[in-house]
Amino acid sequence: MTEVQSQLVDPRHFPCQTCGGDLRYNPTSSHLACVHCGETEALDLSGVKPVVEQDFNSALQKGVPAQDIEETQVTPCPNCGAQVEFDAFEKAKECAFCATPVVGASAPHRHIKPRGILPFALTEEEARKEMTQWLGGLWFAPNGLQKYARKGRKIRGIYLPYWTFDAQTKSQYHGQRGDDYFVNKTVMRDGKPTTVQERRTKWRHVSGRVARFFDDILVLASPSLPEKFTKDLAPWDLSEMEPYLPDYLAGFEAEAYSVELEDGYVIAAKHMERVILRDVKFDIGGDRQRVHDINTQISDVTFKHVLLPIWMAAYKYKGKSYRFVVNGRTGRVQGERPYSIWKIASATALALIVAGIAGYLYSQYSQ
Ligand SMILES: [Zn+2]
Ligand SMILES: [Zn+2]
Repeated sequence: MTEVQSQLVDPRHFPCQTCGGDLRYNPTSSHLACVHCGETEALDLSGVKPVVEQDFNSALQKGVPAQDIEETQVTPCPNCGAQVEFDAFEKAKECAFCATPVVGASAPHRHIKPRGILPFALTEEEARKEMTQWLGGLWFAPNGLQKYARKGRKIRGIYLPYWTFDAQTKSQYHGQRGDDYFVNKTVMRDGKPTTVQERRTKWRHVSGRVARFFDDILVLASPSLPEKFTKDLAPWDLSEMEPYLPDYLAGFEAEAYSVELEDGYVIAAKHMERVILRDVKFDIGGDRQRVHDINTQISDVTFKHVLLPIWMAAYKYKGKSYRFVVNGRTGRVQGERPYSIWKIASATALALIVAGIAGYLYSQYSQ
């Protein structure tokens, strides 16, 4: 019985006190506003705790305390695998990432509650403007697509799931430092002995220590968007992170994470490894470096599950899918770069004509 009730109560729906319509989070006013009557309501920030880090090792060993777990209805998209969240009243919807219809909601998904959220700062209109500008800047994009995008195709506000990790690291290394020097050498050139300089490297063994504190390594906890999109959406103003409150999600969608905490840490650890290698090479100095081994002690690992906002448009145009993503905080745009063969061909032809004229003029002047 309680099972059924808990499914019908939807934390993402906030009815308007005046007319019962849906309230939505408004990025401009940071209030909830009713889509029907325009009534606004301030966010209830009482009882909100500051964003705190969670201990990674204890989460792995003992699990996360029950109050940090939430359950939502999730169905994976049959095309791209995105974990599409359904509210209690939805039966079917379009996958926001690839515009494929998804029929839900199947299994309840138990997961770690978000700790922090960067609320949307850009409204839908602002995001659309950024996207149109970006497309307009791609002179090689087909005119039809630019028009299609401008005509007010639906764009959707989605919160993407991320993990962030902090860690203290201390590394000990062994390696070699190479310092270059030059020697004079006599070689035969065109039958004559000639002196040339040859580069040599003097190697010596070195060892040392480096230490670094990693703050907020960001790991996307979803495979539904190609990394090239999401990586180029950075930087995110993580220092502006707000404590998680479901109110921010009103009127938006959220994707559930599908990269588990432990797997997220593996990605973060690889990032740390790369940065530490760079630190070690810098510490060795000289002209060249050889690194034999690095022994790193990682301690005080903490994590947070956070939600970051994007505006996203998935278009099908002339049988091809195009996706555009706008950072919901900064307006930075990324996407599939559509190009028109015709436009590129005519530009190439034009360039050849210009080069031809220039060549002609040059030959006239140089006579
Ligand atoms: Zn209302
Ligand atoms: Zn999909």
